[in-house]
Amino acid sequence: MNGNMMRFPLTLTHILERAGQLFGKVEIVSRLPDKSLHRYTYQDFYRRARALAKALQQAGLQKGDRVGTLMWNHYAHLEAYFGVPVAGGVLHTLNLRLHPKDLAYIINHAEDRFLIVDDILLPLLNAVKDQIRVERVIVVPLTGQPVPEGTLDYEAFLESGQGPFTYPELDEEEALGLCYTSGTTGRPKGVLYSHRAIVLHSLASALPDALGLSQQDTLLPVVPMFHVNAWGLPFTATLVGAKQVFPGPHLDPESLLELYEKEQVTVTAGVPTIWLGILQALEKHPGRWNLTPGMRMIVGGSAAPEGMIRTFDRFNLRVIHAWGMTELSPLGTVSQLKSYLKDLPEDAQYAYRAKQGLPAPLVEVRVVNDAGEAPWDGRTMGELQVRGPWVAAGYYNRPDAADSWSEDGWFRTGDVATIDPEGYVKITDRTKDLVKSGGEWISSVDLENALMAHSAVAEAAVIAVPHPKWGERPLAVVVLKEGQHATPEALREFLAPQFAKWWLPDAFVFVDEIPRTSTGKFLKAALRERFKDWRWE
Ligand code: ADP
Repeated sequence: MNGNMMRFPLTLTHILERAGQLFGKVEIVSRLPDKSLHRYTYQDFYRRARALAKALQQAGLQKGDRVGTLMWNHYAHLEAYFGVPVAGGVLHTLNLRLHPKDLAYIINHAEDRFLIVDDILLPLLNAVKDQIRVERVIVVPLTGQPVPEGTLDYEAFLESGQGPFTYPELDEEEALGLCYTSGTTGRPKGVLYSHRAIVLHSLASALPDALGLSQQDTLLPVVPMFHVNAWGLPFTATLVGAKQVFPGPHLDPESLLELYEKEQVTVTAGVPTIWLGILQALEKHPGRWNLTPGMRMIVGGSAAPEGMIRTFDRFNLRVIHAWGMTELSPLGTVSQLKSYLKDLPEDAQYAYRAKQGLPAPLVEVRVVNDAGEAPWDGRTMGELQVRGPWVAAGYYNRPDAADSWSEDGWFRTGDVATIDPEGYVKITDRTKDLVKSGGEWISSVDLENALMAHSAVAEAAVIAVPHPKWGERPLAVVVLKEGQHATPEALREFLAPQFAKWWLPDAFVFVDEIPRTSTGKFLKAALRERFKDWRWE
């Protein structure tokens, strides 16, 4: 027997309407290219997002048409986040850090019909314009300069969409957004989010034991809005009516710290690279910024080293470690301590907080290796597989990439993990980054995190390098902090008490910087290439 409840589609339209009705007075603040602050309220945002939807419809947007955005984090991007999907379009956020050839590939693969572009990013668009076919380019005049001929001025476009507007009827399964994974190997692959997935993801993200976002919060997403929808945070924040603060193109530590202080930000989010920079600025200028005590910093994208979590605690800033992927919208796990784990000694608590955490509600996890499904013993490694309502079921127009799903329909993350008896997931590596020494696995991530806890080390990446006897051995690439010194022997000695002897890197190489992917992660493929002919002594 079925229940007897309304069929009410889970769509973004509801979230936008609710925000307009309930949170009209709440502020949305954006840093502009000239560093001045643009301020308006949800009421303005609501009106303009609807105007964008109407203007797009008048321009001929049909259901399912892709609208690309090439934009930093700011109010107009938020308008596109809602205006495009509620018009029935698909918001396709473009990663402005990609190489132009990848950008052109993605725009063409997605068949973007319209593009909305920041005026300061026009040089990037010009680099690809001969390789792409889009019908219209709409330019956001962030600098106040007139937009180039042949393009539409975003403000004038919105003007054309003023007045009454009726939402198209949307089914919750219809597409809302499209994001391509940054693709450290092979061609980028698109993940097509549905309204239903994003609504459920927003609800679950807002839970206190997940990212804990509420109307009381002021959110500043450092994670770019072109990277998995800024982890879905603009959707979640709008759902709950939190104040939103956007850093625009100014992502250096001092600009961020200034904005945290000025707007009394309570929750922020980004990759560890950003936090390393923030930490260095805080250590260099103690007491210079008056931040909200206990400000939460959501850290994901790569592992948050335990040392970082401890140091931020000393500044009364609370790291929340989370794991996710483009294919998971992106939230998979969050490391919040269970009530009774707070009675454990401090070191044990930190060990839990440095794990990637418990699966979010509605996300199921398992670890699979050659022997089958691994026990939850915190030791047995295997590939992490997941399923849930906001997990991709395939890639956009890529039937060739079906091997990312198991035969019984779980998504194969390509991450290697353990799950402990409490259910905390610990990512030990990417499948492709593991070091296989004499047939045994060594976790490069564990070694990196331990190295980054050394007082002289700013950054460390451990890679597998071919070895005549062992197959592969770990080599550590280290960036020292300014003015600091350390020898390979000292680093080895520092690691020795924490690892089995055969795990210790056989070589330490000091460099000025570690190459990064477009999303700020260590580009280990480049390091592996650089050191592939390393001569072991
Ligand atoms: P890409 O794989 O192209 O970088 P994503 O941005 O979707 O794309 O990154 C997802 C990957 O990032 C995960 O599969 C995992 O390897 C890594 N990752 C994300 N969060 C964490 C975390 N907290 N700890 C360790 N690795 C993480």
